[in-house]
Amino acid sequence: MNVLDLHAETWTSLQARRARLPHALLLIGQKGLGKFALAREFAASLLCEQATADGRACGACLACNWFGQGNHPDFRLLQPDALADEGELEEGKKKPSQQITIDQVRELDEFLGVGSHRGGLSIVLVNPAEAMNRNAANSILKTLEEPPSNVLFLLVSSEPSRLLPTIRSRCQAIPVGVPSAAAAGRVLAAAGVADGEHWLALSGGSPRFALEMATTGQGAWLETLSARLAGGRNTDPLAAAGDLEKLVKESKGRLQLKQVIEAFQKWLIDLTLVANGLPVRYFLAQEPKITMLADMIPAVRLIHFYRNLNQRRQEAEQPLNGRLFLEGVFLDYRALFSR
Ligand SMILES: [Zn+2]
Repeated sequence: MNVLDLHAETWTSLQARRARLPHALLLIGQKGLGKFALAREFAASLLCEQATADGRACGACLACNWFGQGNHPDFRLLQPDALADEGELEEGKKKPSQQITIDQVRELDEFLGVGSHRGGLSIVLVNPAEAMNRNAANSILKTLEEPPSNVLFLLVSSEPSRLLPTIRSRCQAIPVGVPSAAAAGRVLAAAGVADGEHWLALSGGSPRFALEMATTGQGAWLETLSARLAGGRNTDPLAAAGDLEKLVKESKGRLQLKQVIEAFQKWLIDLTLVANGLPVRYFLAQEPKITMLADMIPAVRLIHFYRNLNQRRQEAEQPLNGRLFLEGVFLDYRALFSR
């Protein structure tokens, strides 16, 4: 998936900053848009020693070779250990950290102290920035307050509200938006996904999630959920909860209760849109059914149920009995249709 094709506008605005780079850039946007890949491409293009006319890394020079192999001397990537050795958990090995720690930030001191090896920039990429624990964040902040010259910090975040405000204020923000449906559709088609529009809608516009859903069978649970929800007052809450709980269990952590509730919320949003004479946003394939159902629900119940789901979404992050929890949600859903 070519991230530069998806985010041509953001790429242009990044390139426009080349001539006068700030000390720190913060790429923000929802999960699954390719912000990290975009930041990496930008770092590569800044380090490349013969970048193309549109600013892309050439992919062939010495710097590009080093970068591709992960050992460019003027580049550092800070990320949680859990991201570094994905899925390679050995028996008895300590569980990898989900945080960026103070030790990782301290290791930067020497890197930043010696200046760049190739006479250009030194670049530190922090992904995701909200993974820095408090100590790590405070330590980075000190560096950002007195930035060494010729150093660029690239921070990536899908939850910028969790960053220290003092860090945010020292970065130039680069918003990364949802790519246009046309660009995303082209990229998905090139990857062999036929009904890209369908998956894009379900994934909230994220091409990466759309691709995962379409190609790995991960979207199957959404089909199950929407088929159950389409039953309206005929939905069997106990059977539906049973189905979904089984899928959550069998996914071994890839599908979480929280995601089920979020999908529920998207269904509610579609019902609300249709009730107000607007087209559905997420469940395109179910639009006729959703239109029929929306007619049967008093508006005030939709609002109450949406609030109820917000509450449940928080509960879903706590340890609980998944089966009972889902039964409760489906019972409340069916009650929307009671006369
Ligand atoms: Zn190059």
